[in-house]
Amino acid sequence: MSFKDLQLNKPILRAIAEAGYDNPTLVQEKTIPFVLDKRDVIVSAQTGTGKTAAFALPILQSLFDYQDAPKNGKKIKALIVSPTRELAVQILENFKTYSTYTNLRTAVVFGGTSIEPQKDILNKGVDILIATPGRLLDLHKQDLLNLDYVETLVLDEADLMLDMGFIDDVKKIERLCTKEKQILLFSATIPYKVEQLANTILNNPERIEVATNSSTSRNINQVLYYVPKRNKIELCLHLLRNTIKGSILIFRRTKFGVDKLEQTLLKNGYKVESIHGDKTQNLRQEALNKFKNGYVNILIATDVAARGIDINELDAVINFDLPNVPETYVHRIGRTARAGKSGTAYSLCSADEKTYITNIQQLIQLQLDVIEDHPYPLDPKSKPEIHKSKTQGSKHKKGRKSEGSKKKKKRWY
Ligand code: AMP
Repeated sequence: MSFKDLQLNKPILRAIAEAGYDNPTLVQEKTIPFVLDKRDVIVSAQTGTGKTAAFALPILQSLFDYQDAPKNGKKIKALIVSPTRELAVQILENFKTYSTYTNLRTAVVFGGTSIEPQKDILNKGVDILIATPGRLLDLHKQDLLNLDYVETLVLDEADLMLDMGFIDDVKKIERLCTKEKQILLFSATIPYKVEQLANTILNNPERIEVATNSSTSRNINQVLYYVPKRNKIELCLHLLRNTIKGSILIFRRTKFGVDKLEQTLLKNGYKVESIHGDKTQNLRQEALNKFKNGYVNILIATDVAARGIDINELDAVINFDLPNVPETYVHRIGRTARAGKSGTAYSLCSADEKTYITNIQQLIQLQLDVIEDHPYPLDPKSKPEIHKSKTQGSKHKKGRKSEGSKKKKKRWY
């Protein structure tokens, strides 16, 4: 199937061609006709499948006739709600690319930065608004935006949105829009709570599923190193010196762990940036840009900070800490070997993480290749290490939370 078969008009087709897209991806092929048909949809697809264009292109096509409304007469006709700021910015970039040859105006609003410039943008009139839930409701409360004309509401990364505690906000946002609107729900996975939300707010939705087993992509080489917990940093340095080259995304479970590894790698002369929930929006965006532009080749991240972010040209993913939720492994490693390229996923497993490996292998129906030839092997009989603080009492515990984390208690990611 070609994009022409999807009934997109010439200005959109031209922009897609300039973006270098030859044919629609599977999720686009399956989703676009229903969106153009004004149906509600539930799409289970991960980042990397082309899901953003799957809603952006038909929205632009449907709004095309409004493009010439005078700026101050523009109403928000499409609203895209995104759980994280980085994802919101990325969605904006996609819309900008695809709408190059239209007069449709897209804007993004999110928390963590000054509200004033966002007010100005809204005042000038936009057709498509991308927003994180908190800031959107803030602006609405202050009567700075009107959702009475929303025809299409997109809930992107719905599972993450609910994991982050936005359920009430999402329901509120849905009620603020008109009853007749179309809702497009995108989610990497469809757990029970997403299903429940869909049942409450969607109207006879079409279900579209795009295989999420990117982990079994033949292009991803998946290798496993058993290593004592205390030697993980040494093994990571050893691999960076001898084995892993190119652009590398390293996952750690905690913000504390991310900071610690970043310091070690910096001391060892590596060009590193990091993202996690305690960093300001500007710092996170800056770090991401430096990584995307190749100014640094290593990015360390927590899962939630990195979810949904589209990073192309990744050579390797390192699971420095293994995730306790096996699906997270699939999300993480799906970021390498995109679009036919090859990549490697390295997993470092300590004694206390062995059960995670069992669950991951069960999920992906694959035995990972165990690399035994390395300087820090784990004794197969070894028991999980119990971390003993050298000092008495809670000093170690106190040090684990950064100042930012203490201040922002509500944020857990
Ligand atoms: P997404 O899943 O929306 O995050 O998209 C992942 C990547 O695929 C982005 O870099 C898009 O620019 C790219 N992309 C989206 N649709 C296509 C397509 N039809 N052909 C080639 N690349 C695409």
